[in-house]
Amino acid sequence: MSEGFRAACVIGWPIGHSRSPLIHNYWLKHYGIAGAYRREAVPPQDFRDFVLSLSERGYVGANVTVPHKEEALRLAEGDECARAVGAANTLWLDRGLHATNTDVEGFLDNLDACAPQWDRDLSKAVVIGAGGAARAVIYALLSRGTASITVVNRTADRAAALREKFGAAVRPAGWDERDAELDDATLLVNATTLGMAGQPGLDIDAGHLPGDAVVADLVYVPVVTPLLANAKGRGLRTADGLGMLLYQAVGGFTRWFGVKPAVTAELRTLVEADI
Ligand code: NAP
Repeated sequence: MSEGFRAACVIGWPIGHSRSPLIHNYWLKHYGIAGAYRREAVPPQDFRDFVLSLSERGYVGANVTVPHKEEALRLAEGDECARAVGAANTLWLDRGLHATNTDVEGFLDNLDACAPQWDRDLSKAVVIGAGGAARAVIYALLSRGTASITVVNRTADRAAALREKFGAAVRPAGWDERDAELDDATLLVNATTLGMAGQPGLDIDAGHLPGDAVVADLVYVPVVTPLLANAKGRGLRTADGLGMLLYQAVGGFTRWFGVKPAVTAELRTLVEADI
């Protein structure tokens, strides 16, 4: 290995679908950095050994995806963000193994870019979903001072557990109440897998939202989900999952390769062509 060469990877099981190599290798080339970013298919039973030997394998850090995000946090020293979300997607070595969750900043930075001032009046947000991505979204929204976050989830217990975890600003609501909850909301976020290619659509009527509301979808295959198409058709501002995916990659690259990379239209076009 040449002097100064650094490598990182994305660890998942399976891992073939990950667009992270496309993003990070684009940035490596763009900034003229001697480095590599690879896919690593690691089954759950081998994850611990793999992560604890990152350095021996020539890695300075890694992204972690399904199904390893919770285990990654157990194995590393998580920052406040990762601990609050209860999952890590980014690991780096710096006298020990550190972890964070860049979905939080990816969600916020994408909204800041797509819908400036979206957080000016955060009196009420509606989040659909109660999995790992929803936890990152809720933590992010609380960090911007959202007064009330209604969480709607198919499995009611999981939404109720998020109130226990994040406090009284989080208010669980029933699946059947989802349209009515939009009447006074300034932000709607889809943090379920609904709308993803091969999955049913999210059956919700964005027409209930006030005209100045913003709609964000975390699903990025397809890039314009039925929810986003519906919201755009009603003249609402939107933020898509592809944008979040690009912005969440910034923090890992910065830590591993020492340059804060830019999310540009050229990068977006490159990744969009792969979806
Ligand atoms: P997860 O932990 O498995 O949670 C999945 C969520 O979807 C749960 O709330 C689940 O409800 C709900 N759901 C699944 N099928 C459903 C159905 N048929 N009807 C109603 N609800 C259903 O997954 P996750 O990690 O939170 O990820 C959620 C989505 O966010 C995925 O599409 C993922 O790709 C996306 N994501 C995107 C980014 C990005 O950068 N753009 C980052 C992270 C995640 P139950 O609790 O009832 O099962």
